[in-house]
Amino acid sequence: MDMPGSRVPREVETPEEYLEKGSFVLPGELVGTTEEFKPGAGTTISAGDIYSTATGNVIIDRKARIVSVKPNTLTPNILKIGDILYGKITDVRESGAMVEIAGIEGKEDREVVNSRLGDIHVSNVRDSYVKRLADEFRPSDIIRARVVDTERIRLTTAEDSLGVVKAYCSNCRGELVLEGKKLKCPACNMTETRKISTEYGKGIQ
Ligand code: ZN
Repeated sequence: MDMPGSRVPREVETPEEYLEKGSFVLPGELVGTTEEFKPGAGTTISAGDIYSTATGNVIIDRKARIVSVKPNTLTPNILKIGDILYGKITDVRESGAMVEIAGIEGKEDREVVNSRLGDIHVSNVRDSYVKRLADEFRPSDIIRARVVDTERIRLTTAEDSLGVVKAYCSNCRGELVLEGKKLKCPACNMTETRKISTEYGKGIQ
């Protein structure tokens, strides 16, 4: 039973019942178009599309036609060895790739380790030898990885279900789609290689 008057007032203009909670997103993910919505907090516009600038849940205000992203609360240093996490590649060097950790899979409320960086050493990318790391990861790729060291936050993608789950075209920034063992850009037809996860394109779990 809903007790009248028991609700705590909230500092939002639209009553909560009109707000629709959407999916969990990472920075750089498409959350709507300017034809549908006005951009709210935690979003930015690029070429008529609205992208998330935060890690958190999409909030849609149907009444005011605003899409925003509500950032998840900071929960530092909760990583455990064996945890599976999602993150964004921020830098790719010869010896390893840097990962901005965005969220841990299976954790309640999607606890987020904000502003923590992990790294994937070149020897932890695949089971096999990696010749050129730039053929496996590119900056802004979204990856699924397993924690192997919590002190230095070392990650591995050397399992079939680990690796890149979302990637953008180096040429036109379009979202790449899986075609055989390669990724193809539907907009400009460019093909690219990555250490692709079997979870590629299935969305963030
Ligand atoms: Zn393209």
